[in-house]
Amino acid sequence: MHHMTLAEIARGLADKKFSSVELTQTLLARIAQLDPQINSFISLTQDLALSQAKAADERRANGESGALLGAPIAHKDLFCTQGIRTSCGSKMLDNFKAPYDATVVAKLAAAGAVTLGKTNMDEFAMGSANESSWYGAVKNPWNLEHVPGGSSGGSAAAVAARLLPAATATDTGGSIRQPAAFTNLTGVKPTYGRVSRWGMIAYASSLDQGGPLARTAEDCAILLQGMAGFDPNDSTSIDEPVPDYSAGLNGSLQGLRIGVPKEYFSAGLDPRIAELIHNSIKELEKLGAVIKEISLPNMQHAIPAYYVIAPAEASSNLSRFDGVRFGYRCENPENLEDLYKRSRGEGFGSEVQRRIMVGAYALSAGYYDAYYLKAQKIRRLVKNDFMSAFNEVDIILGPTTPNPAWKLGAKSSDPVAAYLEDVYTITANLAGLPGLSMPAGFVDGLPVGVQLLAPYFQEGRLLNVAHQYQLNTDWHTRTPTGF
Ligand code: GLN
Repeated sequence: MHHMTLAEIARGLADKKFSSVELTQTLLARIAQLDPQINSFISLTQDLALSQAKAADERRANGESGALLGAPIAHKDLFCTQGIRTSCGSKMLDNFKAPYDATVVAKLAAAGAVTLGKTNMDEFAMGSANESSWYGAVKNPWNLEHVPGGSSGGSAAAVAARLLPAATATDTGGSIRQPAAFTNLTGVKPTYGRVSRWGMIAYASSLDQGGPLARTAEDCAILLQGMAGFDPNDSTSIDEPVPDYSAGLNGSLQGLRIGVPKEYFSAGLDPRIAELIHNSIKELEKLGAVIKEISLPNMQHAIPAYYVIAPAEASSNLSRFDGVRFGYRCENPENLEDLYKRSRGEGFGSEVQRRIMVGAYALSAGYYDAYYLKAQKIRRLVKNDFMSAFNEVDIILGPTTPNPAWKLGAKSSDPVAAYLEDVYTITANLAGLPGLSMPAGFVDGLPVGVQLLAPYFQEGRLLNVAHQYQLNTDWHTRTPTGF
């Protein structure tokens, strides 16, 4: 049962081959048996899952249908879940039970999805290895000595290990696409404003976007359908109609113009990954796509700009965690200042503290113009590069990451080395564009992802291209040994 995709589960439930309760029990048992190896969950919600599954079975018995009705999923532990711990991977929020459901959580619950639990993540979504979680590192099911990517490493590892078919995640600079690449999954970072951020605990508000992680583009279409849409509670949510993503999967790729940026194939890219990306290009050419070399000249400035803007926003967003209103409070504070200092010093881990310091510095009166304002100008140049490119091509294709998943601990003492691995993903967040990563092969037994980017609100185009690619390749069907 655990090998089924969301689409297969929907058909099985509709054909009464099994019930949602049976499926939920099977997966909960599998999580209990296998998750200790990979540490992908922070909390399990067995009682909620079984009551949601029972309700979904009743709704089906009463004639209701729907691709998510009775489908088991999990939420990255930064989506607020009413009455359930929402930790953000941090000691700071270890005791925080959200008073309400995030819009994404409420929408998926209304569609009949069954929540198995909350998945592990880098603390406050800062990271690309899932090693900064207060609940311990997540392991990559493809090789337990390697990282699963981050910050949505728990969602990715759980889906890759077949503990469940799909999970929610968020992407501020690559945290859906990069773990998807590292664990052989398909993941979509939607257009900024496509998915509501209400109840999604903020890291960098102008970059954060929720989206699906699953094994196939077909499943990402199903989960994104349940997540996307206008939300009056989120002032950055956009009131654009949501297309039927599943219905759009079968479009022909004949004449599709694919842009391949020459800057992507620079010295930093593992040549074995470059070869796999070229193979995926050939595969898409066979399906009728036309390849064109393009240029994104400001890409080289994206990492420095992102690592000013994201920490700047984080330093502001995380100021609310002060020991007074939310989460952790130090023991016996001597006075108010001691309460702030020790609650934050003890509650936040070192990567979060580093980002708060960098961000506060970049926003300070003497340095604002030199760092923050400059970074915002670069952000516009990055966006302009994409706008010119999309005058000539329909999608942009390249590697998701320059290297495959590294060994646990390999970059822990050198944060900048980890930041550099985000080179291909962060530009989409700076520009607000949608992106997708899908499986494209293996290097030393570790999965490699190919990234597709599209113009605003063209998630459907990304899903269509990925689905056609997956109908003609079988990388996405490979399963890690032992799972
Ligand atoms: N690795 C990037 C960072 O640490 C992106 C994280 C994310 O997308 N949440 O900021």
